[in-house]
Amino acid sequence: MTPPHGEQIESWDLVIVGAGPAGAATALGALARAPGLRVLLLDRADFPRDKCCGDGIAPHVLDVLASVGVRDATDGWTPLRRLELSRDQHRVTGRLARPVWVIPREVFDARLVERAVAAGAVLRRHRVSEVRRVDGGIVLDDRIGARILVGADGAHSVVRSSLSSLSRGCRALAIRGYSPTPETRRGRQIIRYGDRRQPSYAWAFDRGDGLTNVGYGEFVDEHRSPDRGGPTRAILLEQLDRLLPGSVADGDAWRAHHLPLSGWRWRQPDGPVLLAGDAAGLINPMTGEGIYYAVATGVLAGRTASRALDAGSPSAAGAAHRSAVRGLLGRHLKHTWVASRLTRLPVVVDAGIRAAGRSQHVFDSLVELGLGDGRITPRLTGGLASGLVSGLTTRPPLPRRR
Ligand SMILES: Cc1cc2nc3c(=O)[nH]c(=O)nc-3n(C[C@H](O)[C@H](O)[C@H](O)COP(=O)(O)OP(=O)(O)OC[C@H]3O[C@@H](n4cnc5c(N)ncnc54)[C@H](O)[C@@H]3O)c2cc1C
Repeated sequence: MTPPHGEQIESWDLVIVGAGPAGAATALGALARAPGLRVLLLDRADFPRDKCCGDGIAPHVLDVLASVGVRDATDGWTPLRRLELSRDQHRVTGRLARPVWVIPREVFDARLVERAVAAGAVLRRHRVSEVRRVDGGIVLDDRIGARILVGADGAHSVVRSSLSSLSRGCRALAIRGYSPTPETRRGRQIIRYGDRRQPSYAWAFDRGDGLTNVGYGEFVDEHRSPDRGGPTRAILLEQLDRLLPGSVADGDAWRAHHLPLSGWRWRQPDGPVLLAGDAAGLINPMTGEGIYYAVATGVLAGRTASRALDAGSPSAAGAAHRSAVRGLLGRHLKHTWVASRLTRLPVVVDAGIRAAGRSQHVFDSLVELGLGDGRITPRLTGGLASGLVSGLTTRPPLPRRR
């Protein structure tokens, strides 16, 4: 590696920017395969740190973590088995095939970072501001050299911005807070769809410790938002209180954040710079869930990086990561993209709720599409179609013409 101005550059096999779920999972994936690798995990924050989120942890996240030896990420927290979906007068409450967890990110992310450090990663507080390609690798801020770099630095990724071939995709904006759990919301995840730009919904996720994570988010139409950033905090809170009355008055710790939604086709350039999680633009456009994609693509990035280093070809890592992620999520992402377009129509949301109320299969398939790596199957399509038809046929009669 060529030092730019003659100063010392420290050199690492793998540098990961961002120590959220994607970054910690990258370190775990790399070190599970090659424990001797020199891995540096950088984050601008000290851990534990808060992250604005609904805190919902899908069971798929735990499957991925178990594959890299982490089996205690949810210890001490209560699993939830009931999910309620509603819009206007339509409502369904169903039992989840597999439980979900609601764990504050301050706790969950710090646990993953601890496991990554225990596996051998070096954690350092450092805000990366410049990424430069040089002969033989990448240099960060003129000081830190990497043979392979993974950008896991979230929705406003500096590493992604350094890859000029990637454009920014669609976004949502959401706010979350914590409020005491009323008896009526205990033991469940509640999602209530709104009527602004879809996806738009309010949620109340019981943490099981007396507090509930409450929030509201909606799609950002960058052409219509005056500041191109999305709705104001006042609008987000007003929508939350309208959809789930009483959530705002008792809440605190309000924070809002952008969600980079996944599109029809996922992109990853060739070369030694890989992306994972939000930095890779991977949030489910139907539901806003991103932790599963973050840990799944993180582990894949870590494994791919370690393989490419073993083979002495770091610059082959980008193409290998693209193919691994597309192999795991490619079809699913296309299906969620289609589903997110369809659910912009309120009649489709209503049909889904009706169909999920009638069929456990439809309910389970919608959950799988929203939380994990599900697909739009023929049976799900059939269920939705019959929900749509029954909605049309059970509409109140039009007033007669006089
Ligand atoms: C309001 C809201 C609700 C959500 N609810 C859910 C939910 O219930 N379930 C779910 O699965 N997903 C949810 N998501 C999505 C989820 O939060 C993200 O998909 C997830 O955090 C992605 O993890 P990550 O590791 O890619 O990024 P992050 O968790 O954002 O981590 C990125 C890390 O990079 C660090 N960083 C950033 N820039 C730099 C820099 N320049 N230098 C060094 N470090 C840097 C940050 O400090 C941070 O620690 C929600 C998102 C929002 C906004």
